[in-house]
Amino acid sequence: MLLDDFMTEQIGLFGDQPAATLTPETWEQIPTSASIPIPAGTYQDLDQLAQHCNQCQRCGLASGRINVVISRGNPNAAIMIIGEGPGQQEDEQGLPFVGKSGQLLDKILASVRLDTKNDVYICNVVKCRPPNNRTPTAKEAAACVPYLKEQVRLVDPKIILLTGGTALKGLLGETRGITKVRGQWMEWEGRHCMPIFHPAYLLRNPSREKGKPKWLMWQDIQAIRKKLDESVE
Ligand code: SF4
Repeated sequence: MLLDDFMTEQIGLFGDQPAATLTPETWEQIPTSASIPIPAGTYQDLDQLAQHCNQCQRCGLASGRINVVISRGNPNAAIMIIGEGPGQQEDEQGLPFVGKSGQLLDKILASVRLDTKNDVYICNVVKCRPPNNRTPTAKEAAACVPYLKEQVRLVDPKIILLTGGTALKGLLGETRGITKVRGQWMEWEGRHCMPIFHPAYLLRNPSREKGKPKWLMWQDIQAIRKKLDESVE
């Protein structure tokens, strides 16, 4: 079979069939080239999505990964937290936000009585580690974002927190810098979204002085707690 015919046939698997008719056998046949779209509704559940991510070759980050890092936390949580991509420890453990940044994130959440096992679902824009922890390229982010959008659809959070510029741009297409828009509520597909500083940035800026990043994060996390309380009332 010619490559073009093969691709057309494979694209058809996504484009023409409703997700409900896809079978586990079909998943195994699907190559994961970035040229194949992943429309909304492709995955019936997060396990299917994880299966596909685990064999994904949609971008060059596949070649350097130890693990595909998909998520941690509660898949039924009202809050989804989106980061940039896995670092070394995340890649080794196969879980997002488990290094120093993750520990700080857990502390920030705990400060307003949120815990990472029950109250949040955590994931990243790209699911494979960029070499030397560099920022993912636009091409890599674009290849992986369809998985993220499917995670949003399946988890169905009320609130989405975008940690850092890559998450903000990746999901919302917002190109203003994080320092300009952090702490502002934005609406995306009927969900409350707030850009916040990435915990790694807070680790590099440890001052708690009024107006500094850590102080601003404290304001933001309180606003997030308030929004959660209002939305579950
Ligand atoms: S980063 Fe995303 S798109 Fe790229 S290979 Fe990994 S799972 Fe696939």
